[in-house]
Amino acid sequence: MSRATRASISTAALESNLEAIRRRAPRSRVMAVLKANAYGHGLEAAARALAGADAFAVACVEEALRIRAAGLPNPVILLEGAFHPDDLRVAERERFELVVHTPEQIDYFDHYRGAPLTVWFKLDTGMNRLGFKPGQAEAAWRRLQAIDAVAKPLRFMTHLANADLRDAETTRAQCERFAAFIGAQPGERSLCNSAGTLAFPEAHADWVRPGLIMYGVSPFEDRTGPEEGMRPAMTVSTRLIAVKTAQRGERVGYGGHWTAARDTRYGIAAIGYGDGYPRHAGNGTPVLVNGRRAPLIGRVSMDMIAVNLEQQPEAKVGDPVVLWGEGLPVEEIARHAGTIPYELLCGVTQRVKFDIV
Ligand SMILES: *Cc1c(COP(=O)(O)O)cnc(C)c1O
Repeated sequence: MSRATRASISTAALESNLEAIRRRAPRSRVMAVLKANAYGHGLEAAARALAGADAFAVACVEEALRIRAAGLPNPVILLEGAFHPDDLRVAERERFELVVHTPEQIDYFDHYRGAPLTVWFKLDTGMNRLGFKPGQAEAAWRRLQAIDAVAKPLRFMTHLANADLRDAETTRAQCERFAAFIGAQPGERSLCNSAGTLAFPEAHADWVRPGLIMYGVSPFEDRTGPEEGMRPAMTVSTRLIAVKTAQRGERVGYGGHWTAARDTRYGIAAIGYGDGYPRHAGNGTPVLVNGRRAPLIGRVSMDMIAVNLEQQPEAKVGDPVVLWGEGLPVEEIARHAGTIPYELLCGVTQRVKFDIV
Protein backbone atom coordinates (compact mmCIF):
# COMPACT_ATOMS: atom_id res chain seq x y z
CA MET A 1 0.00 0.00 0.00
CA SER A 2 1.30 3.43 -0.87
CA ARG A 3 1.24 6.40 1.48
CA ALA A 4 -2.35 7.56 1.86
CA THR A 5 -1.71 11.32 1.97
CA ARG A 6 -4.19 12.93 -0.42
CA ALA A 7 -5.81 16.19 -1.47
CA SER A 8 -9.22 15.53 -2.90
CA ILE A 9 -10.61 18.31 -5.08
CA SER A 10 -14.38 18.48 -5.43
CA THR A 11 -15.54 19.78 -8.81
CA ALA A 12 -19.12 19.81 -7.48
CA ALA A 13 -18.02 22.20 -4.71
CA LEU A 14 -16.33 24.52 -7.24
CA GLU A 15 -19.45 24.55 -9.42
CA SER A 16 -21.67 25.17 -6.44
CA ASN A 17 -19.45 28.05 -5.24
CA LEU A 18 -19.61 29.71 -8.65
CA GLU A 19 -23.40 29.55 -8.48
CA ALA A 20 -23.40 30.90 -4.91
CA ILE A 21 -21.19 33.80 -6.01
CA ARG A 22 -23.53 34.57 -8.91
CA ARG A 23 -26.41 34.78 -6.43
CA ARG A 24 -24.38 37.13 -4.22
CA ALA A 25 -23.41 39.37 -7.18
CA PRO A 26 -26.38 38.95 -9.54
CA ARG A 27 -25.67 41.99 -11.72
CA SER A 28 -21.95 41.33 -12.20
CA ARG A 29 -19.92 39.02 -14.35
CA VAL A 30 -17.52 36.67 -12.58
CA MET A 31 -13.78 36.59 -13.20
CA ALA A 32 -12.70 33.41 -11.39
CA VAL A 33 -9.18 33.85 -10.04
CA LEU A 34 -7.00 30.82 -10.83
CA LYS A 35 -3.53 32.15 -10.00
CA ALA A 36 -0.98 30.10 -8.05
CA ASN A 37 -2.18 26.82 -9.53
CA ALA A 38 -5.77 27.74 -8.64
CA TYR A 39 -4.82 28.42 -5.02
CA GLY A 40 -3.13 25.03 -4.90
CA HIS A 41 -6.14 23.08 -6.18
CA GLY A 42 -4.70 22.34 -9.63
CA LEU A 43 -5.16 24.88 -12.39
CA GLU A 44 -6.49 22.62 -15.14
CA ALA A 45 -9.00 20.78 -12.95
CA ALA A 46 -10.28 24.02 -11.40
CA ALA A 47 -10.56 25.73 -14.79
CA ARG A 48 -12.58 22.82 -16.21
CA ALA A 49 -14.90 22.78 -13.19
CA LEU A 50 -15.33 26.56 -13.49
CA ALA A 51 -15.76 26.60 -17.27
CA GLY A 52 -19.03 28.49 -16.69
CA ALA A 53 -17.15 31.55 -15.36
CA ASP A 54 -17.32 34.65 -17.57
CA ALA A 55 -13.52 34.93 -17.44
CA PHE A 56 -10.47 33.64 -15.59
CA ALA A 57 -7.76 35.71 -13.95
CA VAL A 58 -4.16 34.63 -13.40
CA ALA A 59 -0.84 36.22 -12.50
CA CYS A 60 1.18 35.56 -15.64
CA VAL A 61 1.31 34.28 -19.21
CA GLU A 62 2.62 30.86 -18.12
CA GLU A 63 -0.52 30.27 -16.04
CA ALA A 64 -2.78 31.63 -18.78
CA LEU A 65 -1.26 29.29 -21.37
CA ARG A 66 -2.08 26.31 -19.17
CA ILE A 67 -5.75 27.34 -19.33
CA ARG A 68 -5.61 27.34 -23.13
CA ALA A 69 -3.71 24.04 -23.19
CA ALA A 70 -6.57 22.58 -21.13
CA GLY A 71 -8.86 23.53 -24.01
CA LEU A 72 -10.76 26.38 -22.36
CA PRO A 73 -11.73 29.38 -24.51
CA ASN A 74 -12.80 31.77 -21.70
CA PRO A 75 -11.28 35.26 -21.63
CA VAL A 76 -8.18 35.28 -19.42
CA ILE A 77 -7.01 38.40 -17.58
CA LEU A 78 -3.33 38.78 -16.65
CA LEU A 79 -3.62 40.53 -13.28
CA GLU A 80 -0.07 41.86 -13.28
CA GLY A 81 -0.06 42.56 -16.99
CA ALA A 82 2.96 42.06 -19.24
CA PHE A 83 6.27 41.19 -17.59
CA HIS A 84 8.04 41.58 -20.96
CA PRO A 85 7.15 43.17 -24.33
CA ASP A 86 6.85 39.67 -25.87
CA ASP A 87 3.85 39.00 -23.62
CA LEU A 88 1.79 41.30 -25.89
CA ARG A 89 2.30 38.98 -28.86
CA VAL A 90 1.15 36.02 -26.82
CA ALA A 91 -1.82 38.02 -25.57
CA GLU A 92 -2.81 38.83 -29.14
CA ARG A 93 -2.51 35.22 -30.29
CA GLU A 94 -4.30 33.73 -27.25
CA ARG A 95 -6.77 36.56 -26.61
CA PHE A 96 -5.46 37.36 -23.12
CA GLU A 97 -6.46 40.67 -21.53
CA LEU A 98 -3.74 42.76 -19.93
CA VAL A 99 -3.76 44.83 -16.78
CA VAL A 100 -1.60 47.92 -17.26
CA HIS A 101 -0.19 49.40 -14.06
CA THR A 102 3.13 51.13 -14.92
CA PRO A 103 4.45 53.64 -17.49
CA GLU A 104 6.95 50.92 -18.51
CA GLN A 105 4.07 48.65 -19.56
CA ILE A 106 2.65 51.47 -21.68
CA ASP A 107 6.07 51.68 -23.39
CA TYR A 108 5.59 48.04 -24.49
CA PHE A 109 2.45 49.10 -26.35
CA ASP A 110 4.34 51.93 -28.10
CA HIS A 111 6.50 49.28 -29.77
CA TYR A 112 3.77 46.72 -30.42
CA ARG A 113 2.24 46.39 -33.88
CA GLY A 114 -0.72 44.07 -33.91
CA ALA A 115 -4.43 43.74 -33.36
CA PRO A 116 -5.86 45.85 -30.52
CA LEU A 117 -5.55 44.25 -27.09
CA THR A 118 -8.09 44.48 -24.28
CA VAL A 119 -6.56 46.50 -21.47
CA TRP A 120 -7.56 46.90 -17.82
CA PHE A 121 -6.27 50.23 -16.56
CA LYS A 122 -5.20 49.64 -12.96
CA LEU A 123 -5.78 52.47 -10.58
CA ASP A 124 -4.11 52.52 -7.16
CA THR A 125 -6.83 53.85 -4.89
CA GLY A 126 -5.09 53.08 -1.59
CA MET A 127 -3.75 49.54 -1.59
CA ASN A 128 -0.40 51.06 -2.61
CA ARG A 129 0.70 47.93 -4.41
CA LEU A 130 0.07 47.95 -8.17
CA GLY A 131 -1.58 50.71 -10.20
CA PHE A 132 -1.36 54.35 -11.12
CA LYS A 133 -1.92 56.81 -8.29
CA PRO A 134 -4.67 59.30 -9.03
CA GLY A 135 -2.05 62.03 -9.60
CA GLN A 136 -0.23 60.17 -12.39
CA ALA A 137 -3.22 58.25 -13.72
CA GLU A 138 -4.59 60.97 -15.94
CA ALA A 139 -1.42 61.22 -18.04
CA ALA A 140 -1.06 57.44 -18.25
CA TRP A 141 -4.66 57.03 -19.30
CA ARG A 142 -4.24 59.66 -22.05
CA ARG A 143 -1.17 57.88 -23.37
CA LEU A 144 -3.05 54.58 -23.61
CA GLN A 145 -6.07 56.27 -25.21
CA ALA A 146 -3.80 57.46 -28.01
CA ILE A 147 -2.42 54.00 -28.84
CA ASP A 148 -4.22 52.23 -31.71
CA ALA A 149 -3.24 48.78 -30.46
CA VAL A 150 -5.26 49.35 -27.26
CA ALA A 151 -8.93 48.41 -27.62
CA LYS A 152 -11.37 51.16 -26.61
CA PRO A 153 -13.01 51.83 -24.30
CA LEU A 154 -10.35 51.00 -21.73
CA ARG A 155 -11.54 48.96 -18.77
CA PHE A 156 -10.87 49.97 -15.16
CA MET A 157 -9.66 47.96 -12.21
CA THR A 158 -8.65 48.65 -8.63
CA HIS A 159 -7.95 46.42 -5.63
CA LEU A 160 -9.42 46.77 -2.14
CA ALA A 161 -6.92 46.71 0.73
CA ASN A 162 -9.17 46.16 3.74
CA ALA A 163 -12.38 44.53 2.53
CA ASP A 164 -11.56 41.39 4.55
CA LEU A 165 -11.58 43.53 7.69
CA ARG A 166 -14.98 44.86 6.63
CA ASP A 167 -13.32 48.27 6.92
CA ALA A 168 -16.13 50.34 5.43
CA GLU A 169 -14.35 53.67 5.77
CA THR A 170 -11.23 52.66 3.84
CA THR A 171 -13.25 50.70 1.28
CA ARG A 172 -15.64 53.59 0.68
CA ALA A 173 -12.70 55.98 0.25
CA GLN A 174 -11.17 53.62 -2.33
CA CYS A 175 -14.50 53.33 -4.19
CA GLU A 176 -14.84 57.11 -4.23
CA ARG A 177 -11.33 57.64 -5.63
CA PHE A 178 -12.07 55.04 -8.29
CA ALA A 179 -15.38 56.64 -9.28
CA ALA A 180 -13.91 60.14 -9.18
CA PHE A 181 -11.12 59.21 -11.57
CA ILE A 182 -13.35 57.42 -14.07
CA GLY A 183 -16.07 60.06 -13.99
CA ALA A 184 -18.37 59.67 -16.97
CA GLN A 185 -15.90 57.62 -19.06
CA PRO A 186 -17.33 54.48 -20.63
CA GLY A 187 -15.58 51.19 -19.84
CA GLU A 188 -16.19 48.17 -17.66
CA ARG A 189 -15.19 48.35 -14.00
CA SER A 190 -13.97 45.90 -11.40
CA LEU A 191 -13.08 46.39 -7.73
CA CYS A 192 -14.01 43.34 -5.67
CA ASN A 193 -11.96 40.38 -4.50
CA SER A 194 -13.73 37.72 -2.40
CA ALA A 195 -14.11 39.93 0.67
CA GLY A 196 -15.44 42.82 -1.39
CA THR A 197 -17.86 40.50 -3.18
CA LEU A 198 -19.31 39.32 0.14
CA ALA A 199 -19.13 42.48 2.24
CA PHE A 200 -19.55 45.38 -0.18
CA PRO A 201 -22.34 44.70 -2.70
CA GLU A 202 -22.39 48.40 -3.58
CA ALA A 203 -18.89 47.92 -5.07
CA HIS A 204 -19.72 44.92 -7.29
CA ALA A 205 -19.70 46.97 -10.53
CA ASP A 206 -19.42 45.11 -13.86
CA TRP A 207 -17.04 42.35 -12.78
CA VAL A 208 -16.24 40.69 -9.45
CA ARG A 209 -12.91 38.87 -9.04
CA PRO A 210 -13.38 36.14 -6.43
CA GLY A 211 -10.48 33.87 -5.59
CA LEU A 212 -10.63 32.35 -2.11
CA ILE A 213 -14.43 31.97 -1.90
CA MET A 214 -14.41 30.16 -5.25
CA TYR A 215 -12.57 27.43 -3.34
CA GLY A 216 -15.13 27.50 -0.52
CA VAL A 217 -13.04 29.38 2.02
CA SER A 218 -13.82 32.61 3.86
CA PRO A 219 -11.61 35.72 3.65
CA PHE A 220 -12.93 36.93 7.02
CA GLU A 221 -11.11 35.92 10.18
CA ASP A 222 -14.35 35.36 12.10
CA ARG A 223 -16.23 33.32 9.48
CA THR A 224 -15.86 30.07 7.56
CA GLY A 225 -16.71 29.32 3.95
CA PRO A 226 -19.75 27.16 4.83
CA GLU A 227 -21.05 30.02 7.00
CA GLU A 228 -20.96 32.14 3.83
CA GLY A 229 -22.80 29.47 1.83
CA MET A 230 -19.66 28.07 0.15
CA ARG A 231 -18.35 24.50 0.07
CA PRO A 232 -14.65 23.76 0.67
CA ALA A 233 -13.22 22.34 -2.56
CA MET A 234 -10.05 20.82 -1.10
CA THR A 235 -10.00 18.10 1.54
CA VAL A 236 -6.58 16.94 2.74
CA SER A 237 -6.52 13.52 4.34
CA THR A 238 -4.28 10.65 5.36
CA ARG A 239 -4.40 7.61 7.67
CA LEU A 240 -3.13 6.53 11.05
CA ILE A 241 0.08 4.51 10.62
CA ALA A 242 0.65 3.74 14.33
CA VAL A 243 -1.36 3.74 17.56
CA LYS A 244 0.35 3.59 20.95
CA THR A 245 0.24 4.78 24.56
CA ALA A 246 2.38 7.41 26.26
CA GLN A 247 2.93 6.70 29.96
CA ARG A 248 2.24 9.55 32.36
CA GLY A 249 5.18 11.99 32.21
CA GLU A 250 6.43 10.81 28.79
CA ARG A 251 6.90 13.41 26.10
CA VAL A 252 5.97 13.07 22.43
CA GLY A 253 7.93 14.28 19.41
CA TYR A 254 10.87 16.58 18.70
CA GLY A 255 11.71 18.87 21.60
CA GLY A 256 9.19 17.18 23.88
CA HIS A 257 6.56 19.85 23.39
CA TRP A 258 3.75 17.71 24.77
CA THR A 259 3.85 15.73 28.01
CA ALA A 260 1.33 13.04 28.98
CA ALA A 261 -0.52 14.18 32.11
CA ARG A 262 -1.77 10.59 32.45
CA ASP A 263 -1.38 7.42 30.39
CA THR A 264 -2.62 8.54 26.99
CA ARG A 265 -3.46 6.64 23.83
CA TYR A 266 -2.32 8.50 20.71
CA GLY A 267 -1.82 7.91 17.02
CA ILE A 268 0.71 8.85 14.36
CA ALA A 269 -0.77 10.15 11.07
CA ALA A 270 1.18 10.18 7.80
CA ILE A 271 1.33 13.88 7.04
CA GLY A 272 3.79 16.64 7.96
CA TYR A 273 5.33 19.87 6.81
CA GLY A 274 6.85 17.98 3.85
CA ASP A 275 3.28 17.73 2.59
CA GLY A 276 2.38 21.31 3.39
CA TYR A 277 0.83 20.73 6.80
CA PRO A 278 1.94 23.82 8.75
CA ARG A 279 4.80 23.24 11.17
CA HIS A 280 3.49 26.06 13.34
CA ALA A 281 0.27 24.18 14.13
CA GLY A 282 0.64 23.62 17.86
CA ASN A 283 -0.78 21.36 20.55
CA GLY A 284 -4.56 21.31 20.30
CA THR A 285 -4.88 21.96 16.56
CA PRO A 286 -7.90 19.83 15.56
CA VAL A 287 -7.83 16.96 13.07
CA LEU A 288 -10.68 14.57 12.26
CA VAL A 289 -10.08 10.90 13.06
CA ASN A 290 -12.94 8.80 11.72
CA GLY A 291 -14.86 12.04 11.29
CA ARG A 292 -14.44 13.07 14.95
CA ARG A 293 -12.25 15.82 16.31
CA ALA A 294 -8.97 14.94 17.99
CA PRO A 295 -6.20 17.36 19.03
CA LEU A 296 -2.71 17.38 17.60
CA ILE A 297 0.05 16.80 20.20
CA GLY A 298 3.74 17.71 19.99
CA ARG A 299 5.65 19.15 17.07
CA VAL A 300 4.76 18.60 13.43
CA SER A 301 7.50 16.50 11.77
CA MET A 302 8.34 16.40 8.07
CA ASP A 303 6.26 13.29 7.36
CA MET A 304 4.14 12.78 10.47
CA ILE A 305 2.04 14.27 13.22
CA ALA A 306 0.86 12.84 16.54
CA VAL A 307 -2.81 12.94 17.53
CA ASN A 308 -4.36 12.46 20.95
CA LEU A 309 -6.80 9.52 20.82
CA GLU A 310 -7.89 9.65 24.46
CA GLN A 311 -11.48 10.26 23.39
CA GLN A 312 -11.36 7.59 20.67
CA PRO A 313 -10.46 4.22 22.25
CA GLU A 314 -11.66 2.37 19.14
CA ALA A 315 -9.32 4.23 16.71
CA LYS A 316 -6.80 1.92 15.00
CA VAL A 317 -4.06 1.80 12.37
CA GLY A 318 -5.47 2.52 8.92
CA ASP A 319 -8.26 4.80 10.12
CA PRO A 320 -8.85 7.96 8.06
CA VAL A 321 -7.59 11.33 9.25
CA VAL A 322 -8.76 14.64 7.75
CA LEU A 323 -6.48 17.65 8.19
CA TRP A 324 -8.76 20.23 6.61
CA GLY A 325 -11.63 20.49 4.17
CA GLU A 326 -15.04 18.84 4.38
CA GLY A 327 -16.04 18.96 8.07
CA LEU A 328 -12.95 20.85 9.25
CA PRO A 329 -12.49 24.39 7.91
CA VAL A 330 -8.98 25.28 6.76
CA GLU A 331 -9.68 28.71 8.29
CA GLU A 332 -9.52 27.08 11.73
CA ILE A 333 -6.21 25.33 11.01
CA ALA A 334 -4.77 28.60 9.70
CA ARG A 335 -5.68 30.35 12.96
CA HIS A 336 -3.95 27.61 14.98
CA ALA A 337 -0.86 27.92 12.77
CA GLY A 338 -0.72 31.72 12.86
CA THR A 339 -1.29 32.08 9.13
CA ILE A 340 -4.07 32.58 6.60
CA PRO A 341 -5.98 29.90 4.67
CA TYR A 342 -4.55 31.15 1.36
CA GLU A 343 -1.07 30.06 2.43
CA LEU A 344 -2.16 26.57 3.52
CA LEU A 345 -4.09 25.93 0.28
CA CYS A 346 -1.19 27.13 -1.90
CA GLY A 347 1.34 25.16 0.12
CA VAL A 348 0.26 21.54 -0.41
CA THR A 349 3.38 19.93 -1.87
CA GLN A 350 4.11 17.83 -4.94
CA ARG A 351 4.25 14.47 -3.20
CA VAL A 352 0.62 14.70 -2.06
CA LYS A 353 -1.59 12.81 -4.46
CA PHE A 354 -4.39 14.94 -5.92
CA ASP A 355 -7.70 13.23 -6.66
CA ILE A 356 -10.26 15.13 -8.71
CA VAL A 357 -13.68 13.96 -7.56
C1 LIG B 1 -5.68 37.52 -6.02
C2 LIG B 1 -6.49 38.63 -6.51
C3 LIG B 1 -7.89 38.58 -6.39
C4 LIG B 1 -8.62 37.50 -5.63
O1 LIG B 1 -8.44 37.68 -4.24
P1 LIG B 1 -9.24 36.80 -3.17
O2 LIG B 1 -8.99 37.47 -1.88
O3 LIG B 1 -8.63 35.44 -3.22
O4 LIG B 1 -10.65 36.78 -3.60
C5 LIG B 1 -8.62 39.61 -6.97
N1 LIG B 1 -8.01 40.62 -7.62
C6 LIG B 1 -6.66 40.72 -7.73
C7 LIG B 1 -6.04 41.87 -8.43
C8 LIG B 1 -5.86 39.73 -7.17
O5 LIG B 1 -4.53 39.80 -7.26
